[in-house]
Amino acid sequence: IEQTAYQNDKLAMLGKISASIAHEIRNPLTSIRGFIQLLRPHLVSLGKDEYARIILTEIDRANDIIYEFLNSSKPSAPETKIVSVSSLLKEVVLLTESEALMKGCQINLHTDKTPPAFISVDVKQIKQVILNIVKNALDAIHEHHDENENLTGMIDISARDTGKHICIYISDNGGGMDQNTLNHLFNPFFTTKESGTGLGLSVSYSIIRNHGGSIAVDSQVGSGTEFVITFPKVSVSEV
Ligand code: ADP
Repeated sequence: IEQTAYQNDKLAMLGKISASIAHEIRNPLTSIRGFIQLLRPHLVSLGKDEYARIILTEIDRANDIIYEFLNSSKPSAPETKIVSVSSLLKEVVLLTESEALMKGCQINLHTDKTPPAFISVDVKQIKQVILNIVKNALDAIHEHHDENENLTGMIDISARDTGKHICIYISDNGGGMDQNTLNHLFNPFFTTKESGTGLGLSVSYSIIRNHGGSIAVDSQVGSGTEFVITFPKVSVSEV
């Protein structure tokens, strides 16, 4: 799947727009926050301190959302470091395990089959990519039940050394994707979710391309999805 110049332009434009919107929204939020703090003693004397607390928490949440959006919409040049594939995958699985458990889903990391392989990556960015893919998988298997209404969601993560490349496989047994979704899933803003941003995979695509790698997907409605990320391999003598 080729990313077109149009998509790159759209992402660059998105970065610029979101930076200026973030700036314009943050300033009024900061003054609202200040004035609420000034009003707080009055609210306390009225027995309404809870209102002040809610307003402040919500302002902080809005700030966090702006910050996250800004961060994810313009990937910077990778600051690469040589890392072991299996330890990178282990760290990401740790981050997602509690969310998976809450959804009654099992994440299987096949580290035993993962070769002692190394890749040269920006760890923060690649963790973000794998997290995006795993979170999408969790969304896709959210409603996966067997005939006894038990949740039977499963995510499998493994890696393979093909000689020149290291491939990372992330598969789920969720709802899968139809052809229209498959045609558009890497496009900025393409989402089928009610509260999705449609940014996760387009940003992931750019990050992987910036690393000289590639990302591919195979999916079937009703049976699940597999993402494959391919990285150039770092030979052991370079480690
Ligand atoms: P978002 O998650 O905000 O919708 P993404 O760019 O991460 O944005 O994903 C785009 C779309 O690709 C999703 O809305 C969903 O339709 C589809 N998708 C991605 N991963 C999966 C998956 N594992 N199973 C089914 N559909 C998926």
